Amino acid sequence: MPRMIGAAVQRRRRDGSRIERDYALMRAAGVEWVRMGFRTPFADATLRQLTSEFRDQEHEVELLRAHGFKLMGYTPFPGGDLDIGGGFSAWGGPMGSAGYYALYEEVCAWLAERFRDVASAWQVANELNAPDWNGGLTAEQSVTFLLQGARGVKRGNPNALVGVNMAGFDERALWMYQQLFPNDVVALDYIGADGYFGSYNEGGPEHWREKLDQLHAIAGLPIVVQEFGYPSAGGTMRDPAQRREHQRFRCVERAWPYSWEERPRDATTQAEYIERCMTIFAADPRVIGVFVWRWNDGGRCWLCGSPDCPITGNWGLVDIDERTKPAYYAFQRGAVRLHQGDSPDVY
Ligand SMILES: [Zn+2]
Repeated sequence: MPRMIGAAVQRRRRDGSRIERDYALMRAAGVEWVRMGFRTPFADATLRQLTSEFRDQEHEVELLRAHGFKLMGYTPFPGGDLDIGGGFSAWGGPMGSAGYYALYEEVCAWLAERFRDVASAWQVANELNAPDWNGGLTAEQSVTFLLQGARGVKRGNPNALVGVNMAGFDERALWMYQQLFPNDVVALDYIGADGYFGSYNEGGPEHWREKLDQLHAIAGLPIVVQEFGYPSAGGTMRDPAQRREHQRFRCVERAWPYSWEERPRDATTQAEYIERCMTIFAADPRVIGVFVWRWNDGGRCWLCGSPDCPITGNWGLVDIDERTKPAYYAFQRGAVRLHQGDSPDVY
């Protein structure tokens, strides 16, 4: 199977996107897959009427399908950004109750079935080890949530590749990975990982090598890099107290807790970072999918709303007007390398 090469691409109201995506430009970069998070489709607990926001997402999927893209979908999650599926409803029962998980399984099954012709791969929820996304679920509850969601996706589309991703490699992420691989509820197909070495995580692109080994040791399954990337603007926190609580300070300081060898965060460094990561992924046959975060710069930071905050705003391969940044061409070269090294017959 050819590797999945893709980018996080989706409309987010809080991002303030002004123009439509340039699908031809995406194709020319080597993007064949789009990773997007789905909202809970329904307006209420009867699970009948669809919301207008979800209808907008369906329209977006139609456009992607018409342009020949495949979808790495991800299912809703308890915390995080509503635009991409956050704030999963407690219609089924309070968070952590059996009813809560059961409703989640139904919603996941519905989504996988609804998009079965275009979304042949799914990530269940998003980064549930991280407080940004788990909405207060404990690690144990998060594991149950993920497994029940995965069971739903498999029910809705038995042929889909299904896996999970964690944010980085902290203690909680590793504990959750250990519970999930293996488990006795559902057979997962891949182990997903999100790494931002030099921004949220210590190190640089070369840290992926040891992390890919670690992921392989945990799961013995193919690996999907669900998120990697580097911002073309912003600083680095120097104050240890800020670094410890970086989620609280990042938008104020416009900085991350780590840097990549003290390099400036600019368009040139971003391009070099992307290229180095993709060279490592291309050389590793265990990697069956690579998704850059993200395709375009945001018009506003979705965390703080500021038009010039880089924390979520400046990670794009293209800018807010879809003009290419040097990282675009680095990604394009990396995509060629990834295709040359098509993964062996794991699927
Ligand atoms: Zn911000």
